[in-house]
Amino acid sequence: MTAEEKGKISVETENIFPIIKKWLYSEKDIFIRELVSNACDAISKLKKVSLQEEFEGGTDYRIDLSFDKDKRTLVIEDNGIGMSADEVKKYINQIAFSGATDFAKHYQNSENKAEIIGHFGLGFYSCFMVSQKVTIETKSYRKGESPVLWESESGTDFSISKIEKEGRGTKITLYLDAESGEYLDKWKLKDLIKRYCDFLPVPIFVDSEKANREKPLWSEEPSKLKPDDYKDFYNYLFPFSGDALFHIHLNVDYPFRLQGILYFPRLTHELDASKNGIKLFCNHVFVSDNANELIPQFLTILKGTIDIPDLPLNVSRSYLQNDPLVKKISNHIIKKVADRLTDDFKKNREEYQKNWPDIALFVKYGVLTDEKFYDSMKDSLVFKNSEGGFSTLNEYWEKNKEKNQNKIYYANETEISSVYMDLLKTQGLEAILVDSKIDTHLIQHLEMKNPDWKFQRVDADLADQIVDKEASPGIVDANNKTESDRILAFFKTSVHREGIEIKTETLKSQSVPAVILLPEFMRRMTEMNSMMNREETSKILKNHTLVVNLNSGLVKAALREFEGVNPEKGKRLAEQIYDLALLSAKAMTDHDLSEYTKRTVSFLEEILNKN
Ligand code: ADP
Ligand code: MG
Repeated sequence: MTAEEKGKISVETENIFPIIKKWLYSEKDIFIRELVSNACDAISKLKKVSLQEEFEGGTDYRIDLSFDKDKRTLVIEDNGIGMSADEVKKYINQIAFSGATDFAKHYQNSENKAEIIGHFGLGFYSCFMVSQKVTIETKSYRKGESPVLWESESGTDFSISKIEKEGRGTKITLYLDAESGEYLDKWKLKDLIKRYCDFLPVPIFVDSEKANREKPLWSEEPSKLKPDDYKDFYNYLFPFSGDALFHIHLNVDYPFRLQGILYFPRLTHELDASKNGIKLFCNHVFVSDNANELIPQFLTILKGTIDIPDLPLNVSRSYLQNDPLVKKISNHIIKKVADRLTDDFKKNREEYQKNWPDIALFVKYGVLTDEKFYDSMKDSLVFKNSEGGFSTLNEYWEKNKEKNQNKIYYANETEISSVYMDLLKTQGLEAILVDSKIDTHLIQHLEMKNPDWKFQRVDADLADQIVDKEASPGIVDANNKTESDRILAFFKTSVHREGIEIKTETLKSQSVPAVILLPEFMRRMTEMNSMMNREETSKILKNHTLVVNLNSGLVKAALREFEGVNPEKGKRLAEQIYDLALLSAKAMTDHDLSEYTKRTVSFLEEILNKN
């Protein structure tokens, strides 16, 4: 090499830099990410070399950022592998430049220019977004290589010359342009390092102050980590989130490389999938807070890190969505999450059930939206049951199918001590308990997937077992009417409500005078449609059936009043019985409630007057 060599990087270059400068303006911060990750790469390469070769300068690896406000320079220096003159020509003038050329080509052809900006890494040349001149002083780790200086004022013309340089490694000096003075600031630089380079496995200093955490826990050997390591890492990533329920450490080598840690956060509210808890990395360099293109939506409630080294930093959103690698990654993650859950279910059911309230919503959402997840999880879905434990639907089915006649009874958790549940329980029947809005959707989904199963709300119909089918129709009176006929007539005269149907049954239980049955279909529709207001809901609840219990002493006594000395009192008793049934069904309107209250007060007064 002559003392100084000058050259043009490429004939196309003049077209490129104006574009870079002009259009990348909004995301110019990324040059820090690019230069520091290059420095880190240079150190990683040397670490690999160190396994086989000896070299000078020690192994105290570090990256230093410093600046000079007067000279308006920003320096990024590493003690990595360095470059010889030939390597500078090859890697900086050709390879690095090809990134910039690609960018310009894409940019010119792209319809959606906004999308490409900032998502197209330019590697080394991104530093020209902020610099009027850049120098590289570098010395290869190999003995006998002389240090070189590469200089360029435009990014298009360069010169290379020999220089003196003490240690091995690379020092890049940016002479910042008039618009980029903001980088002459320690806080700004520290902030950017923390954002993009926090987990690079090399110490980074800004003005001699350590600026990154290093320790990318996800690339460590899971067997060497303790529970506290995972806990601390979670707290570091997501301060004030409490502890996670559990985590999954992802570690894949083939057919793609992927590492990461996914945590299950404690969920106390309805799904909040808007929060982006998964941080996306490429070779430890932070890329994005938004992994939505990589993983299905139900998984976005997980928190943690995913590192995909083969995913170039320079990918655009639309590119990600169409990449077959992304589909594979997504499927892999779904499978790992399902494996972890089903494994817990099989091996540690107690723990699984303890966590269930926190993960249920997430699992159900996944089951509803992702076919593969449904297939893996379907046998590990558990429901609280009316016995106070948990059952899968298969378990419930095995236990109850004989007596249930193809029905799976279900109730809201709040209805556990309702009249309906009491009626079921006294006959040895069980129900599963549902609690969230999503359960109504889930039930529809499960019915569709399992044609054998028919879910029935406990208040939608009377289970055959709670009705005494053997009961005799009773003696016929002078008018050829049974007691059942008379009670029906009595209630029809006494209770006038639009849309209701009245019928009689002999229940095995004597203590319940009457129950309300609500139509299953309408009920589900109401529950699924959260947009429906109270008014509309009560309208739907009006369409119901009143079942009067022929076995109830109270009903019989009321009938005697009605047919005997005090028909008015009989009618009021019938209304009171109806209202009590409405109350148990939580189907009262405001008007019903006020009528009921007034009538109750007058009954109480009558009792007092008697004494
Ligand atoms: P990439 O990092 O994707 O290869 P860059 O444009 O960032 O593309 O860098 C181009 C090449 O320049 C690198 O592959 C590397 O060989 C060389 N290089 C850049 N920075 C350094 C550095 N600090 N030390 C040694 N080599 C470097
Ligand atoms: Mg690079």
